[in-house]
Amino acid sequence: MTFLDGTRSVHAGLPAPAVGEPFLPGPVFAAPYHLDPVTGPGERGYARTEQPTREALEAAIGELEGGPALAFASGQAAITAMLLALVKAGDTVALPGDGYFAVRAFARGALADLGVASVLVPTAGPYPDFTGLRLVLLETPANPGLDVADIAALADAAHAAGALLAVDNTAATPLGQNPLALGADLVVASGTKGLTGHSDLLLGYVATRDAELLGKIESWRKLTGGVPGAFDCWLAHRSMATMDLRLARQTQNAAAIAELLTGRSDVTGVRWPGLPSDPSYPVASKQMRRIPGIVAFDLGSAERVGRFLETAELVFAATSFGGVHTTADRRAQFGDDTSPGFVRFSCGIEDTADLIADVTRALDASR
Ligand SMILES: *Cc1c(COP(=O)(O)O)cnc(C)c1O
Repeated sequence: MTFLDGTRSVHAGLPAPAVGEPFLPGPVFAAPYHLDPVTGPGERGYARTEQPTREALEAAIGELEGGPALAFASGQAAITAMLLALVKAGDTVALPGDGYFAVRAFARGALADLGVASVLVPTAGPYPDFTGLRLVLLETPANPGLDVADIAALADAAHAAGALLAVDNTAATPLGQNPLALGADLVVASGTKGLTGHSDLLLGYVATRDAELLGKIESWRKLTGGVPGAFDCWLAHRSMATMDLRLARQTQNAAAIAELLTGRSDVTGVRWPGLPSDPSYPVASKQMRRIPGIVAFDLGSAERVGRFLETAELVFAATSFGGVHTTADRRAQFGDDTSPGFVRFSCGIEDTADLIADVTRALDASR
């Protein structure tokens, strides 16, 4: 049988029921396991290669993404592993010019030093001819600007040019969109954000249906070692059971916040791909099953953002997004090329009426 998202979140990656066993087995803490000294490791020798708690989490992510997944210690570990395992000197990759800043920094530094060139492309386009590229990475919706790219159309264009198409699915989550089903060769993501949603761990993953690509990345992980620990894998898997509920409330809150903000003359640049007036709306509504709870807007100055966050009781000043607590991040403090008053606002799962009242009060007080 095929199931809906809430059911899939709860059951993803669970072992078959066995009498006397827990629904989700607890974390297995081991680096080495007992060995048979004569026949060798068998199924389990050492946790960098074989780890049952990690494998259960990977099964869960793989079910939701629609292709086998490999977990990494962070989103950056996953993205850089994919790039380093699949590109070589002389290759050129296309990266989002408005996506996660650390990926661009990695391309400018380590990739360039290895002789891999990169071209930066805005998520909203226009996209260049992909001829001669080894890999195109999309990030959609892009963090922090929330532009959206047409995955199916760009997968076709990449494949026609002989390039691989990878999609950073962090903001959307696998319940928001399934890039592999839309034609992408690879999905990469940070599991630190909405996938796990409790702001208590770092995680990343790569998923692909291509056995050769999967093998290369798995071998890369085994030899470079960026695996997540057993406890984080278990926490992540446990958290994924509530993903559908968390995302539903976050989306509901974002819709209300976006409506509130667009109705105010003292807030500019409101972006939420679920708003029919948003430039991302046509593509987002076609390719996404739900719109994430992240809203972008501008309060005009760093000082006003400061006053807004001092007044708001329910909005924590913090980076990251997708957690159960509402947070706001003034990106320019990290040297992003956003304006000083630009805010990436991540809706938590608080009651919508409380959040709207708190944000309204804080916006009024900060004017
Ligand atoms: C946070 C983030 C990453 C990096 O993930 P970490 O888990 O922090 O390493 C990569 N891509 C996007 C879109 C992100 O938001």
